[in-house]
Amino acid sequence: MTSKTYGDLYNYLGETVDFRKDEAGKDIWDCSGPGKLEFVRDFCKEQELDFIPIERALRANGGGCDCEVLWNTQDIIADEVALPLE
Ligand SMILES: [Zn+2]
Repeated sequence: MTSKTYGDLYNYLGETVDFRKDEAGKDIWDCSGPGKLEFVRDFCKEQELDFIPIERALRANGGGCDCEVLWNTQDIIADEVALPLE
């Protein structure tokens, strides 16, 4: 089994959060909501990773919700760092 990295998670979130512009040129994106990491939970389920330690690491590094992982955690935890397995 190849271990997954934070880069894999950031790529997944890049597609699901999908930063884009609306018709008026305003920045919009998707997020499961303040304090929620449901997209991260989906990724963990798909990849058969334990959500709890990953959630803990994200929240400790500015990732309080799906979009904040891209705004904040991505600048703190490098792409090549392996995701914790437990
Ligand atoms: Zn968010």
